[in-house]
Amino acid sequence: MSARGEERVEERGVGRVEGRITARRERVHVLTGAVCNNNCVFCMEEDREGREAVNSRTDDALVRWIVETHPGAEELCFTSGEPTTNPALARWAKLAKDAGVGRVSVMTNGRALSYEPYTRRLLAAGMRRFYVSIHGHTAKLHEGLTRTPGSFEQTVAGIRVVAGYLGRGVELHTSTVITKRNLPHLGEIYRFLRGLGVQQVVFNVMQANGRAHTHFDKIFPRYSEIAATARAFLEEARREEPRPMAFLVDIPLCTTEGIDDFHRGYVERYVHFEPPGLGAHDRALAPEHAAERTGPAGDLVQIRRSDLDDAARAKRPECARCRYDAVCEGVWLNYLARYGWDELVPVVNPPGR
Ligand code: SF4
Repeated sequence: MSARGEERVEERGVGRVEGRITARRERVHVLTGAVCNNNCVFCMEEDREGREAVNSRTDDALVRWIVETHPGAEELCFTSGEPTTNPALARWAKLAKDAGVGRVSVMTNGRALSYEPYTRRLLAAGMRRFYVSIHGHTAKLHEGLTRTPGSFEQTVAGIRVVAGYLGRGVELHTSTVITKRNLPHLGEIYRFLRGLGVQQVVFNVMQANGRAHTHFDKIFPRYSEIAATARAFLEEARREEPRPMAFLVDIPLCTTEGIDDFHRGYVERYVHFEPPGLGAHDRALAPEHAAERTGPAGDLVQIRRSDLDDAARAKRPECARCRYDAVCEGVWLNYLARYGWDELVPVVNPPGR
């Protein structure tokens, strides 16, 4: 998966963040894009060859098998690489819709959506929710991170096209991956995206893997800095909008105390399927699961997001007394290797709770 939109929020209405995390239902990811037409500096899919080998294996039979074997999934999401580069996307969306999937979605850089006939095809096929990755409110900021000239204009145009279909069961969310460069501009990015008609603006904290690991020192802010900046941005945004539709996702909850629970998102639960031995994901599997085979031809492994978390995140003994211990996935080992544990203080007795 790319870093974008991977951790997003759902059912953000009332209630405590712990309750929403506990109530998460599992989603299914379909690995769709063998390639991507952006080149984001923080992309966690650093192994391009592995991704191409894995995602090229997705075909009609696999998508059909996935929808038939997951009738109760909350959502089926086409993701990984850039899904719109796969000509089968609309056909697979229709296959999912016809099989009765409740919500069919796509995580995309949105560039292809700027071509309205293509977007209309996806909508007619049953695509209902769009998670569009956009990392700045200006071409300079966004393209400095995507490293792809012209990508900003197309992504913004794609957002505008989807925004034109809202109100007909179509949903439009964005995912902005927070880096040292765009962190000072959260308010401008939020206002820009809301002005385009985006319903939910999600600020995703990077996973400290792939390119985010390679370029960590240049791009990865400290969690405490992100939380402080987000808190200030939300206070300011509340002066214009009583309940800003902005959400901070994939950051340890001990660092975001003081931010209203409404704005504290969480990492989704998902499962995906891939052939073993080709990509990085299957190395995260425990040996007993790595040996299990599934799929239409019995040659795939099932990988849950929690498998990836368990292999690449950690807690420390003090976490056992934290009020969030039961719902916390832990902290990326690659993050801890740089910044350590100092800012991650167990929340034992928060005021007013
Ligand atoms: S369990 Fe540990 S890492 Fe997680 S929120 Fe609590 S103190 Fe932070």
